Amino acid sequence: MINKALIIRFSSLGDIILTSSLALNYKINHPDSKIYFLTKEKFKKTVSLIDAVDEIVTIPDDCSFVNLCKIGMELDKINFNTVIDLHGNFRSLTIRKILTADHKVVYPKRRYERITAVKKKIIPESYPHTIDLYNQTLIDLEMNSYSKRPNLVSTNNISDTEKSFLSKHPHTVLFAPGASYATKQYDIQKFAQAAETLQREYNAGIIWAVTNESEIVSELSQIPESSLMKYVNLPITELTSLIAKTDLVIANDSGIGHLASSVNTPVVSLFGPTHPVLGFSPKGQFDQVLDVKEYCRPCSLHGGKACFREEQFCFTKISPEQIVNLASYKLEHQNCRNKAVFVDRDGTIIVDKHFLSDPNEIEFIEGSVDALKRLSESGYKIVVVSNQSGVARGKFPIETVEKVNQEFSEKLSARGVDLDAIYYCPHHPHGSVNQYTIKCGCRKPSPLMVEDAIEQLLINPIESFVIGDKLDDINLGKVVGAKPILVRTGYGRGFQEKIDSSRFYHDVKIVDNLAAAAEFIGDHHLD
Ligand SMILES: [Zn+2]
Repeated sequence: MINKALIIRFSSLGDIILTSSLALNYKINHPDSKIYFLTKEKFKKTVSLIDAVDEIVTIPDDCSFVNLCKIGMELDKINFNTVIDLHGNFRSLTIRKILTADHKVVYPKRRYERITAVKKKIIPESYPHTIDLYNQTLIDLEMNSYSKRPNLVSTNNISDTEKSFLSKHPHTVLFAPGASYATKQYDIQKFAQAAETLQREYNAGIIWAVTNESEIVSELSQIPESSLMKYVNLPITELTSLIAKTDLVIANDSGIGHLASSVNTPVVSLFGPTHPVLGFSPKGQFDQVLDVKEYCRPCSLHGGKACFREEQFCFTKISPEQIVNLASYKLEHQNCRNKAVFVDRDGTIIVDKHFLSDPNEIEFIEGSVDALKRLSESGYKIVVVSNQSGVARGKFPIETVEKVNQEFSEKLSARGVDLDAIYYCPHHPHGSVNQYTIKCGCRKPSPLMVEDAIEQLLINPIESFVIGDKLDDINLGKVVGAKPILVRTGYGRGFQEKIDSSRFYHDVKIVDNLAAAAEFIGDHHLD
């Protein structure tokens, strides 16, 4: 019987985007499961960008209690095994109570704790992010978490005008001056000053995007039009695609910040009355919060409270120059434009010798060296990512991995392939060597090895590929937002059926070997 799970989150934009991490993790644990998502009608499009979700069920935006109960009873006919309540309010509790399911979990909202922190102005140094709180429900379900960042599908849905705008400028920066409350909005005129400087100094193309905050819309119309684009209420799929193509997003504490993180575009996020430690800071790899110390901060948990002082110092003390400085740093030093192939070692590049410990045993799979050469010549960084749990299992010491990798790399070099980096994970959760027996963040499909490479080599994962012979490699691609390719060498053939039969793996390309993978990439993705 199919494992059916229901995720409940009714609103709002940012929170829904943050649930994408949990949905992906659930699916990696149970690729054959069917995930339903219950949300408000107006967030249906947003949920449709969460790749792991199979079915979306909606309630009307102004759903009455009676209607809600009816929807709950109707939903119960689906016979869910698992209900995951990520809303944690009276309405989601109602649905939870109506549904019969073997497992019902609700995320630890810790609302009282957070409200107390706001009231007393005593903010703990660190506090679990909302994504981590969502993922905690997986512990109760005895599942593992791999993804810890939001992830949405960007469908490359951009217009010709946008394309030409993007190609005309060496950099593009998207300003999102809206937020759920006026009190959470930084002065749009100051945003405009920062935009002007970035335009002047970097020839940056400036894009403005707001959703339906009316006050901001009228203010936006006062900004002069030169070398910029303006969008009001751009549909979420198009906005996501556009943001995926921009270099930087500058936003308030708002949903658009999370949207940018979900497609690996760095965000500079201005927090005024709210506090980033309380769970909603943007969670992308290069995201940064800009805020100032003020005794009255945080003013409220969600930032809607009116300011009692003569001016909103939490914002007025942030200057346009500060925004420009952060933005400049990101454009100059953290602009991830490189594409890469993240390639598994054993079973993909070389023959899997089952815990290879002797450098003399290295045997290249036919065509794999030429394939790497071809990819490298096409401008791809070549990054080897390998799980080496033999260390944790006591099969060989870590020095052996180093020695084999050294020889591996030299052999490739002698044949004209210079690897850009090799990463390996020596850990395993059930090893025999204490030091390496941990649940680490680097063992594939966890993303740490790839994230290190992204930072070192400034790689854009959306333009990149993960190639390997195991489901862990394919799932790694899913977690980091790169395109997954399964090779039939090594253990690959054994995973083919599983991948073919699951909707979750619809985007996986299956090929005979690394040579065929290089050919596929060459045919389909060269500029
Ligand atoms: Zn590890």
